[in-house]
Amino acid sequence: MFDLKTIYNNCRICPHECNVDRIQGEFGICGELATMRIASVGLHLGEETPLITKKGSGTLFFTGCSLHCQHCQNIEISQSKSPLGVPYSLQKLAFTLLQLEKMGAANANFVTPTHFAPSIIESIKLARKQGFSLPIVYNTSGYEKVETLKYVDPFVDTYLLDIKTLDYTVAKAFCGSRDYPDVILKVVDYLKTKKTKTFIDNEGFIRGLLVRHLIFPDCFKATKEFLYWYADNLKERAYLSILFHFVYPKQGKRFSTLSNEQYEELINLLKELKITKGYIQGLNYGNYTLDEL
Ligand code: SF4
Repeated sequence: MFDLKTIYNNCRICPHECNVDRIQGEFGICGELATMRIASVGLHLGEETPLITKKGSGTLFFTGCSLHCQHCQNIEISQSKSPLGVPYSLQKLAFTLLQLEKMGAANANFVTPTHFAPSIIESIKLARKQGFSLPIVYNTSGYEKVETLKYVDPFVDTYLLDIKTLDYTVAKAFCGSRDYPDVILKVVDYLKTKKTKTFIDNEGFIRGLLVRHLIFPDCFKATKEFLYWYADNLKERAYLSILFHFVYPKQGKRFSTLSNEQYEELINLLKELKITKGYIQGLNYGNYTLDEL
């Protein structure tokens, strides 16, 4: 089990293994101290369909991030020492989870939880003792240590797992960590042993593993390589969500990273590889299920 008294004072929660004392005010790469901070809590309708049953997904956006992608789509929240963070004690987060359930949330969706994972688990335990019954979504960049996931996994119903790339050059250019491909492959190997199948339950909620892949600008070749790997390794046990509407944070204008021809090629490749479980954005926004392509 996590020991909250010691885990943050020599932090090795994620693959960076900074060895900093977050209790005594030292910052590691994630840019957050030991006290949880959250930028936003609410019922979110912008997630994939099987996460937004009832009145929406009960999202909790934690500030900071262990990855720091160069063009993060949530930069105001994920940046080190984000001014948007509000401190949360274990009890306050437990109370918030109960409130989300009362508001009609379909699930509790922890966005970028890695660097606070030990505290989040303790809060879930506290909330459970008080009747909290929502399923848990662990919404992660994928930059995780398997040792940490082993403690987290018993509490997680669904991983919303980014697989950003398996290409070292793309990882260096976009993910802030050249070793991202090595890390994510180990994470997937572990999760395959824990979430052996993914399905939509009677409430319309997805349980298991929902993989998100955002296609970066000028990285279509790397995406195609990822899809070949996905077909061989995950298509039978996971759902896939493909996104390609992107924004450079400083420019603020969203655009498609695929041309019409590339989109066509992508659809044909998904059909050829028989990847039929999941979702994809349309060229003009909107979302489609992969089995209707
Ligand atoms: S959680 Fe933060 S401080 Fe801890 S190892 Fe990761 S980046 Fe470093």
